[in-house]
Amino acid sequence: MIAEEFKQMLSQKSVIRELAEYATERAKQIGYENVFDYSLGNPSVPVPQAFTDKLVELASSKDSMAVHGYSPSLGITSVREKVAASLSRRFGLNYKKEHIFMTSGAAGALAHALRAVATSGDEVITFAPFFPEYTPYVHGLGAVLKVVPPDTETMQVNFEAFEKMLSPKVSAVLINTPNNPSGAVYSTETIKKLASFLSQKEKEYGHDIYIISDEPYREIVFEHVDAPYTAKYYTHTITCYSFSKSLSLPGERIGYVAVNPNGPDAALIVNMCGQISRGIGHNCPPSLIQLAVAEVLDMTADLSVYETNMNILYEGLTKLGFSCVKPGGTFYIFPKALEEDAVAFCKRALKYDLILVPADSFGCPGYFRMAYCIPTEKVERSLAAFEKLAKDYQ
Ligand code: PLP
Repeated sequence: MIAEEFKQMLSQKSVIRELAEYATERAKQIGYENVFDYSLGNPSVPVPQAFTDKLVELASSKDSMAVHGYSPSLGITSVREKVAASLSRRFGLNYKKEHIFMTSGAAGALAHALRAVATSGDEVITFAPFFPEYTPYVHGLGAVLKVVPPDTETMQVNFEAFEKMLSPKVSAVLINTPNNPSGAVYSTETIKKLASFLSQKEKEYGHDIYIISDEPYREIVFEHVDAPYTAKYYTHTITCYSFSKSLSLPGERIGYVAVNPNGPDAALIVNMCGQISRGIGHNCPPSLIQLAVAEVLDMTADLSVYETNMNILYEGLTKLGFSCVKPGGTFYIFPKALEEDAVAFCKRALKYDLILVPADSFGCPGYFRMAYCIPTEKVERSLAAFEKLAKDYQ
């Protein structure tokens, strides 16, 4: 018998993937350069040369099993040590290898972190707008995902609504900053407030509440933006990191879980992740890639084009009458659609070969997301298409 649960998921396919497929087909008809494809968050800049060089060196190594053999289930020890040292140096917490678990990207990190602290029937809270894949991630473990409505004025946390939604059933709060899709970066004030609020609730409910901090965009923060490291402010924090965006290598599937070393269960949680892998078959990320990223931990790809693109779009779109909160990081911008129904708006945008993603599945109807990890000259050319689109609404 086939599993109905997954069969039914086929009817709820990712809107983003469908739009990206449409863009590919359209490019075949009118040329790639004429399609303004803002659908997919696929990084557009090359990996650092140092990473490529290391990869080539490792792949040419005579000790084949050291680079192509199975990784230990928690990750290669020397890699975990280097990740811990880098985090300690950067953020001032005393991470050791015992607090680090290597994963296949942020998706793998989230799959483990969620299972480590939440179980079937528990509630996990997140904040709109949110990454739509959180729904299957949380449902996959039998927990309930509760989504706090957005604060569209600031794209920070809507504390008033959050307070009403908290209950003793909540075991984890899943945050994503810098945020996909809004591009907002939670301020120190927001993180401190969230931490103090959850500490109070932990006392009131008599159990731990974990923050699972999803941070694949940690390194994509724009000039003068306050970007606190969440774990510094809250002991029960599990950081889920990915090199997909910072090093531009999403296809290599590499990231980690870092558990705040100040929590009494930090090392225990990492060991539990090794057991969780056994259950979900999502284990031992490639040794070669672990060893290569360990050599470039404090580096990033040249991410500057994202800020350039953001500034062009923010200025251009606001001039055309779009309203949006200025992104502090990522490669996403999140304007309000020019009609209430963002799905209809994005359909109309296709007329001008603008591929925009309606934000209904991000928990924020009426808005749309643009992933501007595309060439700057194309971003510039797309403004004429936006002008035509805006005229349709005058
Ligand atoms: N979390 C967020 C907010 C993302 O945007 C993504 C990918 O786009 C992921 C998690 C998954 O990242 P990875 O490709 O590293 O698994």
